[in-house]
Amino acid sequence: MAGQIVYKIATLGSHSALQILKGAKDEGFKTLCIATSDRISLYSRFKFIDKILEIETFSDFPKIQKKLIAEKAIIIPHGSFVAYLGIDENKKMTVLYFGNKKVLDWESDRLKQREWMEKAGVPVPKKFTDASQIDRPVIVKSYGAAGGHGYFFAKNKREFAIRMKNFKAKKYLIQEYVIGVPLYIHYFYSPISRKLEILSIDKRYETNVDSLGRIPSQNQQGLGIEPSFVVVGNIPLTLRESLLAEAFEMGERVVATSKKLMDGGIWGPFCLETIITPEQKFSIIEISCRIVAGTNLYVSGSPYSVLYYDREVSTGRRIAMEIKEAIKKGKLKKILN
Ligand code: AMP
Ligand code: AMP
Repeated sequence: MAGQIVYKIATLGSHSALQILKGAKDEGFKTLCIATSDRISLYSRFKFIDKILEIETFSDFPKIQKKLIAEKAIIIPHGSFVAYLGIDENKKMTVLYFGNKKVLDWESDRLKQREWMEKAGVPVPKKFTDASQIDRPVIVKSYGAAGGHGYFFAKNKREFAIRMKNFKAKKYLIQEYVIGVPLYIHYFYSPISRKLEILSIDKRYETNVDSLGRIPSQNQQGLGIEPSFVVVGNIPLTLRESLLAEAFEMGERVVATSKKLMDGGIWGPFCLETIITPEQKFSIIEISCRIVAGTNLYVSGSPYSVLYYDREVSTGRRIAMEIKEAIKKGKLKKILN
């Protein structure tokens, strides 16, 4: 296909780059990886990466934009784009970018994100604006924290006050700690077909919270262990089928509401981070408005993606499929920024 040959799919060498570029190659695109010097050896191992552009540090990304534009590259953003370049750099990017940049402001501001979820009618944990009102276990999240760094847990108001003394963040959110199991739902919304898919689901492996149960509580006493939520990996999961309908409906409401709140709304991959209580109630703790690393489990497809496609479709490949379809229909502008 002529259009497809012209465009190349590119991303930063980090996070979910391997999945994205493998998927792009499987769909027939030429692929580009922008990698820091220390990662060239990693990315040159894979034959689905056609070209590697070297930068010294991630913050040098803007310096190679001209080159990327000349290559007709379409950038696929992932977790490292916001983590290492910041939102302003993302917004300033002039190279073709898959997704709606208007979503960035809504995602990065924890209060706006909450407003979005509330307007969409999805259940969210209780929020405490005044510490004196704390009446249950809470988790405190600093603004801008990612991957579970910069959080603390407090069992009650008293513990909260003690922990706050050592907490350096100026802006933070006090949220009810929902007792239940975490489950991350990977969606894909196609602005071309106007359909929402659940492509896969994972749970995170977080240190040390996921190992505390290995030591009985009586043996933990006196050790002074504090729960932390630093993600180091992901575990595959399927959802009890009776909860799947609600998972779709929540995703659909989030998409519909985004169209009212931000010009164009959200499209492409996103993830609802949920906790499910013993009463089988979802609580949405966060939305990630791009491909999440948990999708790396499913480079060769998932128990869900196979229900739509008779081939191995990862989220990375699904993005390339959408771009291909948009090119075919002359709608590429609609899905890029
Ligand atoms: P890295 O590629 O490990 O440098 O991570 C880039 C960004 O993505 C950081 O903000 C990480 O916290 C986040 N991240 C990386 N891997 C994961 C993961 N498996 N689950 C959730 N977040 C992740
Ligand atoms: P987040 O950065 O919001 O994805 O949170 C990182 C981790 O902290 C999650 O994967 C959960 O293990 C935990 N967590 C965050 N918010 C809550 C909450 N309200 N209740 C229980 N656990 C939470």
